[in-house]
Amino acid sequence: MRDSLRLGRVSGIPIGVHWSLLGFGLFAIVNLAVSLYPVFAPGSGTIAYLTAATLGVIGLFASILLHELGHSLVAQREDISVDGITLWLLGGVARLDREPDSPGAAFRVAAAGPAVSVVLAVMAGLATYGVYALGFGDLLFVTVGYLALANASLALFNLLPALPLDGGRILQSWLWHRNGNRHRATISAARLGRLLGGIAIVVGLFELFSGSSTGIWTMMLGWFVRRSATAERRHARRRLRAEQRPPRPRPVWLWPPHVPIPPPGSAPFPPPPGAAPFRPGAVVLEVDSWPTGN
Ligand SMILES: [Zn+2]
Repeated sequence: MRDSLRLGRVSGIPIGVHWSLLGFGLFAIVNLAVSLYPVFAPGSGTIAYLTAATLGVIGLFASILLHELGHSLVAQREDISVDGITLWLLGGVARLDREPDSPGAAFRVAAAGPAVSVVLAVMAGLATYGVYALGFGDLLFVTVGYLALANASLALFNLLPALPLDGGRILQSWLWHRNGNRHRATISAARLGRLLGGIAIVVGLFELFSGSSTGIWTMMLGWFVRRSATAERRHARRRLRAEQRPPRPRPVWLWPPHVPIPPPGSAPFPPPPGAAPFRPGAVVLEVDSWPTGN
């Protein structure tokens, strides 16, 4: 996925947004301004609701970016370079240069994102209480409260034990640690990802039929999770098969043509009359396709 707009760099990591984020942003702003604010902060005008909803959604984008930075900065500590972070329609993506090379490293990189979201949820929760206690008004109370709930649900949703979610990566690192095989662990965690994606698609359909517009969102999320889990499972299966396959004998081409190795102490054919006696050491052997002779 290419960045449509570059925002800058943090710790050398390019931060960008994909144009589809605009779709997500508009959907979220309208949803908040129409359904959340009028219920929890009644009595304000449309402009006030739209302004508060826009601030809430910008706060949500910043929260997702901090979540991805959590993954990325821990990855850098594990000597994995990060190609970039992109915010898009369904959240954020941190592009790591390679996979972690141990179960411990995989666990630390995966857990860092939800850990950031939990900290942000607690901070926003305390701020919500402060706004309420100091009487700063309903709109600010709902905006900060929304950020607390959004970060808590970001942490909880991402901790579901199914690839490609963070919880799936944590599960994969644990299975890898327990069984010693990264690819088998990936296949098991991806199976749960496909199941979760399927469930989300069905739940989204029910939401749509019951009149909730967020059903489209749930279905898209389910489709994305299922598709990513399928891709990860396919990749892991291919690598597992390659690991299990015995090494194929490589064809050997030698010039001059290959000399058969005679049984020790014997000549392969009777020496022509007057020829020098056969020397068993003077044959060409093949070791890793490099000809060696003596
Ligand atoms: Zn994450």
